[in-house]
Amino acid sequence: MWSAITAKYGRQWTSTVVKRYRSLTAYDISRMRDLLGDTNVKTDDLDSFNTDWLHTHKGRSQLVLEPNTTRQVSQVMAYLNDQSLPCVIQSGNTSLVAGSVPFDDEIIISMAKMRQIISFDETSGILVTESGVVLQTLEDYVNERGYIMPYDLGAKGSCLIGGNLATNAGGLRFIRYGSLHGSVLGVEVVLPDGRLLDLMSCMRKDNTGYDLKQLFIGSEGTLGVITKVSIQCPLKLRHQTVALVAVNSFDDLLKIYHKIRCDLTEYLTTFEMMDDIAMDAVVTNLKQTHPLNGNSSPFYVMFKLAANDCEHMEKRLAQVIEQLMDKQLISDGTYVSDDNLQRFQKLKSYRERIAEGLLVDGYSYKYDISLPLNVFYEIVNVMKDRLKTTKCLRVCGYGHIGDSNLHLNMTSKVFDTDIKSQIEPFLYEYIAKHKGSISAEHGLGLMKNRYLSYSKPAEAISMMKDIKRLIDPKNILNPNKMLPPIN
Ligand SMILES: Cc1cc2nc3c(=O)[nH]c(=O)nc-3n(C[C@H](O)[C@H](O)[C@H](O)COP(=O)(O)OP(=O)(O)OC[C@H]3O[C@@H](n4cnc5c(N)ncnc54)[C@H](O)[C@@H]3O)c2cc1C
Repeated sequence: MWSAITAKYGRQWTSTVVKRYRSLTAYDISRMRDLLGDTNVKTDDLDSFNTDWLHTHKGRSQLVLEPNTTRQVSQVMAYLNDQSLPCVIQSGNTSLVAGSVPFDDEIIISMAKMRQIISFDETSGILVTESGVVLQTLEDYVNERGYIMPYDLGAKGSCLIGGNLATNAGGLRFIRYGSLHGSVLGVEVVLPDGRLLDLMSCMRKDNTGYDLKQLFIGSEGTLGVITKVSIQCPLKLRHQTVALVAVNSFDDLLKIYHKIRCDLTEYLTTFEMMDDIAMDAVVTNLKQTHPLNGNSSPFYVMFKLAANDCEHMEKRLAQVIEQLMDKQLISDGTYVSDDNLQRFQKLKSYRERIAEGLLVDGYSYKYDISLPLNVFYEIVNVMKDRLKTTKCLRVCGYGHIGDSNLHLNMTSKVFDTDIKSQIEPFLYEYIAKHKGSISAEHGLGLMKNRYLSYSKPAEAISMMKDIKRLIDPKNILNPNKMLPPIN
């Protein structure tokens, strides 16, 4: 599998890499040991660092650095820049676009040892932390203090907050709390030449000049190393209820979304859809019982509500469900509150574990796209038709309806160039025609960077390249990711 994909993604710009950069030497490694100490410099067993989450790309890095402090990051970057040695920043390595692994043999800087939570203000809900803390650890930490993180994603047990910022992660709470561009208040960044850019702030309001921190949110490790973050956490509402309902058509699903937005808006924190094929990936591949006792349906909606007043919320929910059933918009369903934590987590997991379930098929072709709601699901059917004569095992759609964000996934036993060529560039042309986005959440990384022009005009891409050249003139930070090749 790797060889086929490496041929497609991994080698095409090798000549640029060879020309621009110097090769790693034993002296470089000894300098890194001087700066970081022996235990923070790895040269053996690097397979997991070199391989992306989807196993689509394998880099050839021979060196992993694990700094403990911002000062060490700064010293490392100054050295690498001076010596023209390229590197890639890696956090939880859950990137779904191979953004966190080396393109070729870049040095890997792992942020996993920068895991100090620095402060939490229980009055304002502002968390200040180093960037290497696992999202689940932060969630647990703020939960204990009456707050939640403003975002939540299926990879929360492995991804780190620095990686979340670098990818501007969206996820399940986006509909309620918006993007990290809104909730992040400050960042500390080490620039490619080792200079420290201290943009740490705990102020929600600050209109003094360009808001430079925004540049680093979603920059996919191409502009600087995020070392600290301050973030506004919302209050934890005392009760949560999750509902999963079966729906007969996508049109009905949109009607349900409208009804719930109108009638339960003050409670709504998540509104997700999945089709029967996505549900089957969890039930069959992960050997789970069907959430609705085997009553299969073309679509499912999972939505979550939260409130301090549980009684009122559940009364309103029961009324809305009754009205939806009267109109025959939902055929079956169940809901459970977090008083019954085990069942609550289990019901949520049917949506959260889809990516994991799909991987059991073998290889997943993952597309994380934005499309207007009126054509949101159409592409799944178009793709089913297009791939029916190939070795594709499954075409499914699931995602964040409230954010017009569809996860369109295809699977096959092993990576198949025929399937890939049927999907791309057809899919990107389709998205461009409908003025959607070719990457709503996961970013571009190594797998999608060359398609940026389907979502951004030439002038914007040119400006992005100018910014990259200004901040990283030697192009040592995550080269060949996010942007099309830079000369
Ligand atoms: C099961 C699963 C579910 C997912 N669900 C969602 C979802 O709902 N929404 C969503 O948006 N994404 C989702 N993702 C994608 C992925 O988890 C996110 O993109 C996540 O934010 C990446 O975090 P990470 O710590 O793993 O970063 P990594 O994968 O290690 O890195 C991602 C990118 O950020 C850069 N980077 C990492 N750390 C830093 C840093 N400190 N400074 C500068 N650059 C850095 C890397 O170079 C790379 O380009 C999911 C992934 C999986 C596997």
